[in-house]
Amino acid sequence: MAAHIAEKKGTFLEEVIEATPGGERLVHCIQCGSCGGSCPSGAEMQYTPRTLIAMIGANDRDAVLAANTMWACVSCYFCTSRCPQNIPITDIIYTLKRMSIAEKRYHDTDAPALAKTFTDFVDRYGRSFEFGLATGYHLLKRPISMMKMGPMGLQMFTRGRMALRPTKIRQIEQLQAIINKAKELSAK
Ligand code: SF4
Ligand code: SF4
Repeated sequence: MAAHIAEKKGTFLEEVIEATPGGERLVHCIQCGSCGGSCPSGAEMQYTPRTLIAMIGANDRDAVLAANTMWACVSCYFCTSRCPQNIPITDIIYTLKRMSIAEKRYHDTDAPALAKTFTDFVDRYGRSFEFGLATGYHLLKRPISMMKMGPMGLQMFTRGRMALRPTKIRQIEQLQAIINKAKELSAK
């Protein structure tokens, strides 16, 4: 997909490049397929990372943002570490996730709702809160899976591995300042 960014003015490729740190490497993709071949979630994906990158280059914005690829990605970074062109594939997938959530293009997945519940806890307390995730997300969205997870939750609770109330990390205001700054920069 070797192409100069200047030739891609106003395209989806340029949009993804601008929204991703190191994204300018995207134009050096040689479609070797190492990323898709390394991906443990490839079988679950509608489009492998290699195909997704080709689609970005082809300006296929709607299909990319509606793809399930981003929601099947487990952020293991195998693709990124094996890319011979040093393309930050996992970070590009995060960019596509953000765009898909912002424009509500996703479907058949609860992953954005789970991610939002998780990040809301981190924003407020500086850490995850498993009991809150279980009741705030699983109970509302997946009551049957919640029932299956009940015994495990009980074991975690009795062994002191799951608290009933969230606790804040020390100096939470420092983390909140960092998060707020990141939100401010990403909104620009
Ligand atoms: S591994 Fe890198 S160069 Fe190869 S297809 Fe994937 S992104 Fe492109
Ligand atoms: S980071 Fe995501 S896309 Fe890359 S190999 Fe891991 S699961 Fe696959």
